[in-house]
Amino acid sequence: MSLFGGIEGGGTKFVCAVGSGPNEIIEEARFPTTTPDETTGKAIHFFKKYLDGPQKITALGVATFGPIDPGKSSPTYGHILPTPKAGWSNYDIVSALKKELELPIHFDTDVNGAALAEAKWGAGKGCDTVLYITIGTGIGGGLYINGSLSHGLLHPEMGHIRIPHDLSKDPFKGSCPFHTDCFEGLAAGPSIEKRWGQKAETLPKDHPAWDIETDHIANALANYILTISPQKIIVGGGVAQQEHILPMVHSKVLKVLNGYVQSEQITKNISSYIVLPELGNMAGVLGALALPIFANG
Ligand code: ADP
Ligand code: ZN
Repeated sequence: MSLFGGIEGGGTKFVCAVGSGPNEIIEEARFPTTTPDETTGKAIHFFKKYLDGPQKITALGVATFGPIDPGKSSPTYGHILPTPKAGWSNYDIVSALKKELELPIHFDTDVNGAALAEAKWGAGKGCDTVLYITIGTGIGGGLYINGSLSHGLLHPEMGHIRIPHDLSKDPFKGSCPFHTDCFEGLAAGPSIEKRWGQKAETLPKDHPAWDIETDHIANALANYILTISPQKIIVGGGVAQQEHILPMVHSKVLKVLNGYVQSEQITKNISSYIVLPELGNMAGVLGALALPIFANG
């Protein structure tokens, strides 16, 4: 059995794992994201013991927060692009890892990794077009489409789409530093906190916050359905842990689409079409591991 390494590079923590799939994780380690050199150094230290011997890994998957450059022929391939995350702008994480570990590296966004892992092992099993959206500190989307991960110019930035914003219902003006009231600016965890003056996880289930939040999520998901036509939409991230909001999202998506998309997946089975992740808090690191495992489809 071939073994692989995976690094989930998050804004707050890094998770490293060695294994060959969701039920075959040999070792896992988590540490806080500090400076690039220190954090990458810890990951290198973790994997060094797997460079030889019976538990030797053959490739490494790196799935990180973005923006990143995943374009293999680009001069900045493997870099974290300019980011508000202090110290990480333009950091060449792939070269730093390659220099010490000398392994083939498969590099992608955290959300593309999660989309792939959920498509192969989780809630999207059996589908060849799966959209994974995370609603947490930010909002991002990973897209597994027709059996491969979507990149294009760089990678999609689905959190920053514009959605209708009814200021009479939701007067909060939005908090994205680039676009003010894009989807992320209206609906990510920090926006909920700014709008209501308390953390999203402390708001009761019957708080009006959830009506507004699900309006925004439904508008965004309807746009993704209309542009991508995914076979499954998986909604993860901290805010999605409020499981009571999913049924609200289902009925609002139906309302926004207004019967236009004639698939029974939507018209009859929306509760099994827009779903929670199945891989739980392992989705991120399994996403990284999935990158080399499924590199050839
Ligand atoms: P990250 O995006 O940093 O990887 P999370 O997905 O946990 O991490 O997102 C953190 C954001 O999600 C914070 O704004 C937090 O308030 C919110 N959040 C975390 N857990 C919950 C929860 N159970 N219910 C609602 N919001 C939550
Ligand atoms: Zn934005």
